[in-house]
Order: sequence, then C-alpha cells, then structure tokens
Amino acid sequence: MGNRTIRIPLDLDPYQRQILLDTMHEYSKIANYIAQKTYYLNTISQVKIHHLTYRDVRTQSNLPSQLIISARMKAVDTMRVLKKRGRRAPPKFNKYMAIRYDKRSSTLGAGNITLANISGKRIKIPITIHSYYRRYQDWDTKSLDLVFRDGKFYIHVSVERDDPRFIANGDIIGIDRGIVNLAVGSDNSFHNGSRVKKLRNRYSHNRKTLQKKGTRSAKRRLRSIAKKETQFQRDVNHCISKKIVGNMERGSVIVLEDLKGIRKAGKNRSKSLRSDLNRWAFYQLDLFINYKAAENGIRVEYVDPAYTSQKCSRCTYTSKKNRRRSEFLCRSCGFSLNADLNAARNIRNDYIDTLDPYQLAYLVTNQIQRAHISIPDVASP
Ligand SMILES: [Zn+2]
Repeated sequence: MGNRTIRIPLDLDPYQRQILLDTMHEYSKIANYIAQKTYYLNTISQVKIHHLTYRDVRTQSNLPSQLIISARMKAVDTMRVLKKRGRRAPPKFNKYMAIRYDKRSSTLGAGNITLANISGKRIKIPITIHSYYRRYQDWDTKSLDLVFRDGKFYIHVSVERDDPRFIANGDIIGIDRGIVNLAVGSDNSFHNGSRVKKLRNRYSHNRKTLQKKGTRSAKRRLRSIAKKETQFQRDVNHCISKKIVGNMERGSVIVLEDLKGIRKAGKNRSKSLRSDLNRWAFYQLDLFINYKAAENGIRVEYVDPAYTSQKCSRCTYTSKKNRRRSEFLCRSCGFSLNADLNAARNIRNDYIDTLDPYQLAYLVTNQIQRAHISIPDVASP
C-alpha cells in the first residue's frame, strides 16, 4: 500500500481568508467542547457522542452540519488515541487546527475547490496543482484537510494506492550509504560524494565565519545558505535514488541498512566521519529510494547495520582490524576490496541469509533463467 500527501497552496482574497480563519476557529472550539463532553460522559463511542451533543452544538453554532460532524469525529478519535496511551484528560485543540473535509463538505475540481464554511455559502477557490502531482491522478483520495501554516492556507489531499503485485525476479542489490561514497551498490555501482563533500565543507566554513560576525545581514546570509544547502542535499538525494532505482527492473529487491541502529556502536566508522554524518540527509535518501522503488515495483528491505563494515564479504570473518580507512583487507583469508563495496555486499548477503530455503530456491531458479552473470571483484571505483 502506498500513500502520499499532495499539498496545494490556496490563493485567497481577504474576504475568503477571513471566512476560513473564522471557520477554523469555530471548528476548533466545537472540537474542544466535544472532547470535554466525551471526557465527562466517559465514552468514546462516536454514535453516543453524536446523539448527546449534535443538537446542542447545532443550535449554538453556525458551523455547517458536515463540519460539526467532522469536528466531533476528530475530537473522539483523538480521545480514543489518548485513552490507548493511558491518558484520560481531554486534549486542547489549537485554534488553527486542521479542518477535515469530505465529499459532502468540499468539491475538488480540476481548477478549483469549493469549501463549506461558517458563512453558510460555499466559497470557490481557484487552484493549481503542481505538475509533479499528476502521477497520482488515478490514486484514491482518502482525505482532504484545510491546513493553516506560517500564515498561509493549504489543502492537503491524502491519496492511496495498492502496490502493484510484487514478483521477485531474483535481483538483489545491497546499498551501503556513507560520506565519501554517498551510496555504493553491491553490483559495483559507486555514487560518489566528493562534490557534495566539497560543497558542504564550503557551506560549513561560510557558516562559521558568518556566525562569528553575528550582524543582522550575516544572519540573513546564514538563512539563505541553510536554504541552499538543504536544496542542494535534496537534489543530490533525488539524483542518487533515481540512479539506484533506474538501474533495477521490476521485481528486484534493494537492501538498505536500518540506520535507526547506527547509534549502537556496531558501525565502525571513525569518530570524525561519524560527526560528519548528516543523519537527516541519510533518512531523506532512504525516503526517496522508498518512494521511487514503490512506483517501479521494486521492494526495499532492511538489515541490521552491525558489523557490515567489519565483516569479510567472502569468508565472513569479522574483526575491527579488517578495515583500514577506505580499504578492506581480511585478516583471515586475505580478501581485499573497497571497504564500502565490501559493506554493500555484506548488506546483500545478510538479507539473503534471512530468506528461507524455498524463497532462496525460487530466487536462484529465476536468476539462472535470466542467465544472470556473476559480478567480478573490483578493488576500487
Ligand atoms: Zn575473509
């Protein structure tokens, strides 16, 4: 199952803006009122709460009935979640809480959207959906939220689709992510990060100089650098994920390290390198690979990152001494290889080790049928 959120900024005239703000405040007022009621009535049944509050609210508020119902559903849902976590006190909804719309309270057309609101008359707002989102046009719309963020209104449309049926073709690629080589595939593909590192160092140097200055213009420059850096990182991650997924066919498996485990000392990277690790950038790359893989019928699997850089990918002998900077040299069998590539192969092998004999036999048969050629060893990129 895949799901995405499409964000549409709303271009409003002052009147529409005021109406939507008023509607939002009233919506949150009602949600808070119902959450209180839910608390005192000591029930989280949507039906019971509806019968006990609807008429009351309807006479006191000019919020359209569909939005009263929506506020009640949100309030009771939230109470239900809190109760599961062992909290009974009612939540306090912010006055800018998102309004959940449905088909009866909104209409999403090709060039505009109409929204029910407090004025009693629907407002129609012209919209432009970014061309990027066209790929989701045949997905199912699950929900539609009116969101207020940083002084602006947005519509968030959440769409959903079942993943196309996955039939393994036997291709499995392990990917090692790092600093020098941003990503290395067990198929000997290197996605080099030297340009990225150079730029990042330059940014970090400029940042330090500007931070020392501390003037107002320096602060402004700092913000613009941060923005550029984020954009740059994003472009790099898009590019790498596209290349990784683009090299694979439908039915392939990409294996990544589960980096939630990287905090455990298992990963033997030097301290300076680890301090360099932009963890956020790693997660972003992870995310992009997942998105693109899902759209192309490729599966992403995870393995524990412990020892992937210390283990020999040929004989599995594991020792810290095996790794010396960018080169891997096995102290047991003498096998040598680029260290990141060795890690990528371990990632692939670790995943294969988790398969049961039937799955394995199936993959092997598929690979032989496809005349899969084994990959030669290379010492360096
Ligand atoms: Zn070895």
